[in-house]
Amino acid sequence: MGRSGVLIGLLLLMSAQLPAAEVGVETLEKLPAVQRAAEFFVREADWILQQQIRLTSIPAPPFHEEERGRYLEEQFRALGLENVRRDAIGNVLGERPGSDPEHVVLISAHIDTVFPAGTEIAVRHEGENWVGPGIADNGAGVAALLALAGALRDTRLRTGATLLFAANVGEEGEGNLRGMQALFADGALRRRVRAAIAIDGSNAERLTAQALGSKRFQIVVRGPGGHSWADFGLPNPIQALARAITRMTAVQVPAQPRTAFNVGEISGGTAVNAIPYEASVKVDIRSEMESEIERLEYEMRAAVAEAVAQENAWARVPGGPLEAEIRVIGRRPAGELPPTARIIEIFRAVDAHLGIKTSLQRSSTDANVPISLGIEAVAVGGGGRSGASHSPREWYDPTGREVGLKRILLATLLLAGVEE
Ligand SMILES: [Zn+2]
Repeated sequence: MGRSGVLIGLLLLMSAQLPAAEVGVETLEKLPAVQRAAEFFVREADWILQQQIRLTSIPAPPFHEEERGRYLEEQFRALGLENVRRDAIGNVLGERPGSDPEHVVLISAHIDTVFPAGTEIAVRHEGENWVGPGIADNGAGVAALLALAGALRDTRLRTGATLLFAANVGEEGEGNLRGMQALFADGALRRRVRAAIAIDGSNAERLTAQALGSKRFQIVVRGPGGHSWADFGLPNPIQALARAITRMTAVQVPAQPRTAFNVGEISGGTAVNAIPYEASVKVDIRSEMESEIERLEYEMRAAVAEAVAQENAWARVPGGPLEAEIRVIGRRPAGELPPTARIIEIFRAVDAHLGIKTSLQRSSTDANVPISLGIEAVAVGGGGRSGASHSPREWYDPTGREVGLKRILLATLLLAGVEE
């Protein structure tokens, strides 16, 4: 075994056994194949940007990611990934096999956007920036996924774990992480995934290792409805919801664990002179801790039940009582990694090496799903700068993107282990 053999053996050993990776980064970065892969990010910067513009220009509204998915399936094949396929829910998957098929490192980027069908999404150039809805969230993430696959394609670098690339659906809003949930619902795959990296947006300092949980509801109240004058005294669904909201806003939430709730949408009624027969609100509950989400849900259900009972008691003419229905329209599990988690140590070591100031964050991302299952996972940005996310003015500046990509490359290889 030559000197490089010893070093590589050491890397393999470290990735298999040791929690820390401080030594591994420098050794890894010096491998010629890793240097070639990192050079790809600089040499092919324009190809990466063109891919980002191209895929951002393909509409991917919530629950309709098919067209963008088909494009990515083609790109996965062109980049030499193996076993490229689209699963039943629309996730596009491709593999770079490692020597140990029982271990998988998942690298994913969500392809859905928050923009409804019909949104104008032409990407345009303004100064240093590229502007268009979804250009960064998650154009930058998906472009990073393609860049990693491209950078690894030409190297003879062999990883220990198999790298599974996923361009997944359903991250945003009421998509409810359904792409990730479907991936991890596959028990055979779930058992093989040793670590997962979700690439989302641009920020190369970001390290989201804590999953902010949320649960979302639609509360619908129905009643007989009638004329505002002739039927005055019938129970009124809007009044009932007003009572419920008033009760809910009196509920105290703790500062620690940080917890929040929001009545975000309200609708109902047909005319100013009609007693509505239906009204509804949408409520979002979030907390760093699952038990607080459950407690707030309990309070919300109690508030609705009491409000409906009060409104029914207020009614002074017969015509049928109000009824409330509470539907769960979103569910994102909470959870967090211990600060000693290997994936956090690896990213911290890579960041220290690259001069990146790690910003540990808690938010609601695709990483929620593996984290809640006890699998080490983080969400990171794909590099560059961006702003005005989720708006038509969303912008992206690729300056410095190669650093964010190198960060993900090194962390991925440390997680997977490398050999010649
Ligand atoms: Zn996103």
